[in-house]
This record gives sequence, structure tokens and C-alpha cells, in this order.
Amino acid sequence: MLAIQRSACHECDLMIGLDELESGQRARCPRCGWLLTAYHAEATSRALSFALAAAVLLVMANSFPFLELQASGLEKMMTIPRAGAELYQEGHAVLAGMVLLPIAVLPAVMLATMIALLVSLRRRARSSWLVPTGRLLFALNPWAMVEVFIIGVLVSLVKIGAMATIVIGISFWAYIGFVLCFIAAIGSLDRFQIWREIEACQA
Ligand SMILES: [Zn+2]
Repeated sequence: MLAIQRSACHECDLMIGLDELESGQRARCPRCGWLLTAYHAEATSRALSFALAAAVLLVMANSFPFLELQASGLEKMMTIPRAGAELYQEGHAVLAGMVLLPIAVLPAVMLATMIALLVSLRRRARSSWLVPTGRLLFALNPWAMVEVFIIGVLVSLVKIGAMATIVIGISFWAYIGFVLCFIAAIGSLDRFQIWREIEACQA
């Protein structure tokens, strides 16, 4: 059972008080219909499992070749960190930051934050950094654009495929797996449930 205190609707700011939910139950805003919370008793464990898998896959995605291009006898192998490093060396520091920040740096920070928070919640560890960690996690959420990156890569592959031979590396498949696990981890996080569990640890 989950007891929820009064909270504002994310969409219309209506103040709503929800008493108790059981696992599998959902609550919607009575004014705009926005899904307020979908309570699952095992949501924290599920989010932690996906986050750990995503962390392993993200390390793999940054450690192996992403793509290799072959054209006119020339070969060019690319890794995600090397793509940013080469942009930086060519004088495009801002562009290098814009590429690496949303696809590697922010997801890595989010995963580290999520794993630290969820492990602490599972252990019921009372800690002063739970509240700032929760705020940081939900503040960063809109800025991680891993799915946008992978859609952009797929579109680029179609266009580049007409000009060069493309060899897809192990990092590419690791990044696809990372995106799926990352989205599943974020999707398993319920803002109401996380804050309720943080409050329970602080009490
Ligand atoms: Zn509403």
C-alpha cells in the first residue's frame, strides 16, 4: 500500500490528495486526466535492474568501435569518445560538447544518480543527500536525448550508405541495448512513488 500526500498535478496544477494505492492501481487528475501515478510494489527493483544493465551497456558502447566507413580505399573507424575528441581538435569545442553531453555524459550522470538513489531506497538508508539526489535526477530527465541520437544515426546511415560501405561495430549494438534499458529504467521511475519512499527514509 502507498500513502500519498497532497500534490499538484503536473499539467494543470490542481492540488490533489490521494490516500492509498495498491500495487497495480493508477491515479489520474480529475480535471485534466493526467496520469499522476501508477503504483507498482516492485517498481524500484525493476528500475534498478534496468539502470545497472544500461550502465554496463553504456560502458561497452564507449569502449568499442561504433562505425567503420570504407570508401575509395580509405577506412575510418569511429568510437563515440573519438567523435567528440576529433570535433574538439578541429576547433568545434561547443559542437563536441553538444554531441557528447546529451548522448553520453548526461545519461552517465543520470544512471549514477539513479543507481545511488535506488540502492539507498532499497536499503532504507537514511541520508541527507536523498532529497537533492532525487531533485537532480528528475531535473536532468528531460535533457537526456539518447533515443533522438539513435534515430539520427539510423537516418544518417541510410544517407551515408549510398556513398560509402558501412561496417557496424559492437558499440552500435551496445548503444541500442543501452537506449532500450535506459528508457525502461526511466519509464519504471514513478515520481510520486520515489518521493514517497524518500520521505519514508527521512522519517
Ligand atoms: Zn490535472
